[in-house]
Amino acid sequence: MNNSIYNFPLPENETIREYLKGSADREKLDAELKKQSETIVEIPLIIGGKEIFTGNTGKVVMPHNKNKTLAIYHKAGEKEVKMAIEAAKSAHKVWSDLNWTIRASIMLKVAELITTKYRAVINASTMLGQSKNIYQAEIDAVCEAADFLRFNVAFASDIYKSQPVSSFNQLNRMEYRALEGFVFTVSPFNFTSIASNLNLAPVMMGNTTIWKPATTAILSNYYLMKIFSEAGIPDGVVNFLPGSGALIGKHVMESRDLAGIHFTGSNATFNSLWKEVGEKLSQYKSYPRLVGETGGKDFIFVHPSADSKEVAAAAFSGAFEYQGQKCSAASRMYVPSSLWNGIKKEITELSDSFKMGDVNDSDNFINAVIDESSFDNIASYIDYAKNSPEAEIIFGGEYDKSIGYFVKPTLIKTTNPHFKSMEEEIFGPVLTVFVYEDKEINAALDYCDSTSPYALTGAVFGRDRIAVAEICNRLRYAAGNFYINDKPTGAVVGKQPFGGSRGSGTNDKAGGEFNLIRWVSPRTVKETFIPPTDIRYGYMKSN
Ligand code: NAD
Repeated sequence: MNNSIYNFPLPENETIREYLKGSADREKLDAELKKQSETIVEIPLIIGGKEIFTGNTGKVVMPHNKNKTLAIYHKAGEKEVKMAIEAAKSAHKVWSDLNWTIRASIMLKVAELITTKYRAVINASTMLGQSKNIYQAEIDAVCEAADFLRFNVAFASDIYKSQPVSSFNQLNRMEYRALEGFVFTVSPFNFTSIASNLNLAPVMMGNTTIWKPATTAILSNYYLMKIFSEAGIPDGVVNFLPGSGALIGKHVMESRDLAGIHFTGSNATFNSLWKEVGEKLSQYKSYPRLVGETGGKDFIFVHPSADSKEVAAAAFSGAFEYQGQKCSAASRMYVPSSLWNGIKKEITELSDSFKMGDVNDSDNFINAVIDESSFDNIASYIDYAKNSPEAEIIFGGEYDKSIGYFVKPTLIKTTNPHFKSMEEEIFGPVLTVFVYEDKEINAALDYCDSTSPYALTGAVFGRDRIAVAEICNRLRYAAGNFYINDKPTGAVVGKQPFGGSRGSGTNDKAGGEFNLIRWVSPRTVKETFIPPTDIRYGYMKSN
């Protein structure tokens, strides 16, 4: 019997590798890219550890080379959803009863496999399937995925350690039970690490999941699933159900055992899930926990004391890395007229210096957007700006889907602080700037705070520290992750816990205790050593 008391201190973040040309890492990655580019993977459903081929299939292509098929995946129907619910329920007892340190050791092994044996595999599948360059894949699919796992183990140990006070004649304890039922996890296309964490955060706390991956991220997500199994996550603990979100969601939500939803994606989808749960509330065994990180309309606010070059560098990388498809990507910027010419010159020079194209060519800083509907949507915003008397395209504005879904980084300047692209999430490489008169900074701050329904990330730039402090205070509710003199993207697990409020989600801060605590239902246990036999209170007694 293992009766050790484990100590899981906070880990170091996984080191980002450089993949220099000619290095062993680079050669391994290039070989894996070649292999995956030449292979068409058949992706089954995985329910209770069994691979299921329904014959109802879909195709996964490379966004930057749309005629190249990467995978054929099988889609779940009602029957498979019901099988997955049964599998998740039957795996629950053993998994939730297991000593949590064993679950922790399995999570740490997943991290180890991702960062060693499967580093190239998980990077290459994310690069090819989700059109990320080497750096964007490495910081997501390897480093952030491993960080979530390792930090969650340390945070879980803090939660389990947190116990109530015991006193004379009694012993009190808190038992952090897994939720009673299963967790439905619905993941977005843009981060492989998020897909992993949406499942493994609840799994770390003893839950089992039914996972609906985003169709456009299925390849990397399928490899994750294989890694989970190799690391020792038992069959049925995570059940992988590709297919139509609407269909899978509908049948999952009919189950009385739905104990929670762990979601990242758009507002429209999360709102529909929430509404559905509300309508069916009386039929569930418990109140399902709803945790969702949704959209953003992330801003950079520039104070007149800012440095133009610093602002331009942050705005370019914050808005255009991974083609603006990070929920945290800067998509609106407020610039004082005194700095506009300098910032415009610097950011335009940056834009001229970066190339766009296939992920296999490492000279390309910008790759493709995820799919045709996203491409068309982004193009419609650019066209709207081109045709508006209130807007001017400063650079970019071109797009082409003949080979892949390429949209040039685009900077729009508008005279209307409520211009469509200042308000709505576009999820593409489009940044809109509103130039304010320096003396009208208060009005500009009001626009920044109130223009969009979201509150995910935001940044302020300025060297006047007192003014910056005032802005930070003034914009207190405008962002869940706020940056001072830094771009609003690139949150690191354990360092900048991530999540937004208002329309951006439930702000349960992925990769931290706030999130993990949502996946347990504590039971308080009081034990009395010598139970009383005389139940009368003192004042009732004669002496
Ligand atoms: P999406 O909402 O289109 O899809 C997310 C997932 O929901 C996919 O797996 C999809 O198949 C599924 N889905 C769709 N309809 C469904 C339904 N009715 N029932 C169940 N599942 C359903 O989002 P996306 O395009 O994959 O991702 C982009 C969005 O995600 C953006 O809005 C972005 O801001 C947001 N995002 C937010 C964060 C954050 O931390 N706040 C992080 C990443 C992405």
